[in-house]
This record gives sequence, structure tokens and C-alpha cells, in this order.
Amino acid sequence: MAGPVISHRGPEVEEVTRDVFDKLKVLFGTQNDCYVALSAATGIMEAVVRNLSEQRILVGVCGAFSDRQFQVALKNGKKATPLQVKAGQVIRAEMVADALKKDDYDLVCMVHSETSTGVLNPIEEIGQAVAEHDNTLFAVDCVSSMGGAPVLVDDWGIDVAFAGIQKAMALPPGLAMFSVSPKAMERSREAVNKGQYFDFENYRKMATKNQSPATTNTSLLVALRFQLNRILAEGLEARWDRHAKMASYVRDRLDRFNLFPDPDFMSPTVSVFRNEDGINIASLIDAVNKTGKLFGNGYGSLKEKTFRIGHMGDLQIEHLSEFLDSFEACLAATGA
Ligand SMILES: *Cc1c(COP(=O)(O)O)cnc(C)c1O
Repeated sequence: MAGPVISHRGPEVEEVTRDVFDKLKVLFGTQNDCYVALSAATGIMEAVVRNLSEQRILVGVCGAFSDRQFQVALKNGKKATPLQVKAGQVIRAEMVADALKKDDYDLVCMVHSETSTGVLNPIEEIGQAVAEHDNTLFAVDCVSSMGGAPVLVDDWGIDVAFAGIQKAMALPPGLAMFSVSPKAMERSREAVNKGQYFDFENYRKMATKNQSPATTNTSLLVALRFQLNRILAEGLEARWDRHAKMASYVRDRLDRFNLFPDPDFMSPTVSVFRNEDGINIASLIDAVNKTGKLFGNGYGSLKEKTFRIGHMGDLQIEHLSEFLDSFEACLAATGA
């Protein structure tokens, strides 16, 4: 990224773009075309509802990020119904199957790893429920799972999967990656009022020339290629395994705290703990931060009621060991 900026048109960027798009297919576990947008992941939340729905959307809501997807649908003038569970709970495939039996939906939106609660939804089983309905597309927010947990787009029947690059991909923020199935591309072709910036058709057309529809962040694109090479060299299975081990390590060492999510459906990239002893989380974060490390308060309404430890990306057990030494020392200093 510190190298000279390359032109966003021209042979150099085309070579990088082609390589990135090809390697994203491996990362996403798909034959579908993959694209990169200069955007936060929230941009693709908008793209999904604008390109894929003219009728009614079912949105699984199990925390702050999946609630955002629901709000995005409404703010784009779409008809949407929330399939809501309490924070910390999982959305089960049977719930989706029942909802799809009761009403017609042309799109189901789910979050894979709900970063605000630490829940990992059973996307494979939900995908099977959606696949029973020919006219229903399936879009999945994989922002905090991609690169840290298995995401198998084709096996799970996902029409559009999307992720940012700043979570388990361990890159600076600024790009979003997404895959689009032929069925989803077909739907996009007929969509009205889908806007310009996130028109999937434009991404497809420009990708045939190994280009992006508008100016992209070429420095981040170069970084994404670099990181994809590192991820594939580590091996996807090895990377997922490392994340599972990091999750166990953190949860074992902090077993004096109860976990917030359903124990059978926990994300391997983030641990959300209950704060049942009334610890002042904000000041604990400040104290830990003075040692050069950082963890997260609860998200939104879960602030101070929970705290979150991210164990994703390029971290190793030894980093978490150092982090937890600091965390425990700062915790002891509060008298808790
Ligand atoms: C971080 C996150 C988002 C939002 O990503 P942005 O790049 O900030 O738009 C969406 N969904 C999930 C699950 C996330 O963890």
C-alpha cells in the first residue's frame, strides 16, 4: 500500500483485479463471480435489497448488524418483515422454513456471524430451507466470518455473500467483497430503481474487462491481493482451525465469565461475555488500552452488560496470551 498509487484504469490494475476476483472465488467457496466495491460492507447491504427485491424481504434479526440490514431495506423503500429472536439467540432453519410457508418472499437476508452478540447462525440449514422456494433469493452478511470461519457459498446455496476487509481479513477498511449467483444477476437485470453505484449488472459488465465500474481504491486492492495470497498460503482449513483454537483459548482463560450467545452457536471470531459483576467495562478498556491492547464494549444496547473480545484475522494464540495477561492484571487492579 505504501508503493506508488497505480492508475484505476490500465493494464496494471486489470492484472490485479483479475487475480483478486479469481482468488475471491476460492475464499468464498464458489463458482459464482466475485466482485469488489469501494465501500464499507453496509454499502452491499443496500445493494442486496436494491438489486434483489421487488416484492417482500424476510430479514433474520438477531442483533445490531442484522437489524441494520432490516433498517436498510425499509430506508430503501422495500417491504420487509423481521424474523426476530432475542439478542444472544440463534435463528433456526425451521423458523425460516415456517415464515416462508406463511408468506411469499423474493429475498431472505441473514447475518452469518452476528458480531454484536457472538452468535453464528446455521446458514447451511437455512440455505436448504430457502432452496425449497424457487423465487426466493438468499443473501448473507459474512462480514465477521469471512476469512475466519467456513463460508461455503455454493454448498450452502447463497446467492449473494458479502464481507468487508477489515474484520477477519485483517486489512485496513475501505473495500467490500461480494459474490453474485446467475439467478441473482438475472434478478438484478430486471430490478427498477436499483441506483447506479451498486448496480450488480455494471459490476458484471466491467469485470469482463477486469475493471471496476467507478474509481476503486487501487492501494487497497493491491493489499487485498497480498492478503489473499497469504490466506491461501496458510490454507483456508488451517486458518479456520486457528480461529477455532483462538476462540477456545480465550473462552477457557476467561471461564469465570458466562458467555452471552447460545453455547451451541458461537462465532469463532468473536467472544461476547456477560458482565454480571457490574465491572465498569469502559474504564477497564481504558486501562487495557494503556498497555497497547484493545477489546470492545458491548455493542449498542448491550454496552456495559457485555464485553467483546475479537480473536480474528492474523492474530495468533501468543498475541491473545499477552492480551489476556494485561486484561487479567487490569481486572485485578479494579478489585474485581
Ligand atoms: C462490521 C459489520 C458490519 C458493518 O461493516 P461496515 O464495513 O462498517 O459497513 C456489518 N455486519 C457485520 C456482521 C459486521 O460485523
